[in-house]
Amino acid sequence: MPDYQLLQQAFSPENFRRQAHQLVDVLAEYLASVQKIEEKTVIPFREPEQNLRYWQEDFQKPLLEDPTELFQDIINRSTHLHHSHYMGHQVTPPLLLAALSGMLSDVLNNGMAVYEMGLVSNPLEKIVTDWLAKKLGFDNDTSGLLTSGGTLANLTALLAARAAKASTDVWEEGSTDNLAVMVSEEAHYCIDRAARIMGMGSKGIIKIPVNERYQMRTELLESYFQAAHQQGLHVIAVIGSACSTSTGAYDNLEEIATFCQQHQLWFHTDGAHGGAVVLSEKYKYLVKGIEKSDSVVVDFHKMLMMPALSTALIFRNETDAYHTFQQKAQYLWSNQQSMEWYNSGKRTFECTKLMMSLKIYVSLRTYGEALFRANIEVLHDLARRFAEIITARSQWELALQPESNIVCFRYCFPQQINVLNQQLRKRLLEDGSFYIVQTMLRGDTFLRVSLMNPLTSETDLLALLEKMEEMVKKMPEY
Ligand SMILES: *Cc1c(COP(=O)(O)O)cnc(C)c1O
Repeated sequence: MPDYQLLQQAFSPENFRRQAHQLVDVLAEYLASVQKIEEKTVIPFREPEQNLRYWQEDFQKPLLEDPTELFQDIINRSTHLHHSHYMGHQVTPPLLLAALSGMLSDVLNNGMAVYEMGLVSNPLEKIVTDWLAKKLGFDNDTSGLLTSGGTLANLTALLAARAAKASTDVWEEGSTDNLAVMVSEEAHYCIDRAARIMGMGSKGIIKIPVNERYQMRTELLESYFQAAHQQGLHVIAVIGSACSTSTGAYDNLEEIATFCQQHQLWFHTDGAHGGAVVLSEKYKYLVKGIEKSDSVVVDFHKMLMMPALSTALIFRNETDAYHTFQQKAQYLWSNQQSMEWYNSGKRTFECTKLMMSLKIYVSLRTYGEALFRANIEVLHDLARRFAEIITARSQWELALQPESNIVCFRYCFPQQINVLNQQLRKRLLEDGSFYIVQTMLRGDTFLRVSLMNPLTSETDLLALLEKMEEMVKKMPEY
């Protein structure tokens, strides 16, 4: 076939209509089947080499007449987030309407960096970030943006902190003083990574110890700050975790805010996972003081049900957002200095950017805030219930009472407790009937669930414990 015809076929609306209908049918069948849990494992785990070999062989096969079979194969070999036994990492089972909006944005593919390439998505981005800023308790002259993930959003926030607080213009002149940030030792590793990318090195990441509930010991901030000063470090920011990743513990944001005010430091809140609780009257007490932050990160792909990636970074002061990236790109926008909300690329790391605002906006317009609130409350309530269930069973123990929807616990093996909990989790992974993860807390291994699926029930959690209790009985090591 001549290439021109191939292109015509690939762009044919009729082919698209047929393939899209087929895919939607396949996905609807899939979603129905993962909700009948007895029929399906949640994770079809295979070793990496085995999966690589499978796809290498697939890649050698003749071209497909119809991609449906391939779609099906991809589904079957993936981890099933809509399965009620999915309780592993903090990625949400996406809202189906948001996933459909993803198809819409993929077809439109407006690149967003400049207004002309994001006539709809730039205004929608302003609307959804203004909405979130209000929920966070910020008033009107805030500035928000959407970017590709919490990792990039935290780096962007720290770049803004540097622009605001460093004594020299690092963007123009390079780094001359020894900049540093203060953060709890339980913070997400991306903070450490961001500080290193910014040239602060390990000395520039001052880790504040945590208390027995894994929260930053804010009473130590002053002495760590003074010690850093004596070593010639220039602390620019304190980062609060809301919540931290391993345990779901929320730092005391009020106290961090007060400390930052006293020393004129930037106060950044990493609310990638838990910042979303501002949408719940019942749980927003967990982030009291968040409105005093200079910047806040919230991942929509965690507690807010959006497909990955979709992250908000909100600045309390509008101007801060425009100081982060200061270089000129004449062909994109004529005046770098002006605050043009509608040219997305001025404030984000990305040049071309996904139309993430679309999915959030469509979801809000269709279901309202109530859906987000329901998700947060169902997941948090369920974590508290799971903690009660664990506490009531003598062979299990909690690492700590959960504040968020993350629960860390372990089986009380009388000896070799770490190794045996690791083995238990590995057996569960290979079995595939539940998906949970593990974490290290003060040198000990704990099993960890993030309750991300609102269709997970108490019955599923009881079944999880029973499954593992059965597995313990069969462990030869035990
Ligand atoms: C998940 C998470 C991150 C990283 O966000 P990504 O969207 O995965 O890049 C950062 N901080 C916290 C507290 C998180 O939970």
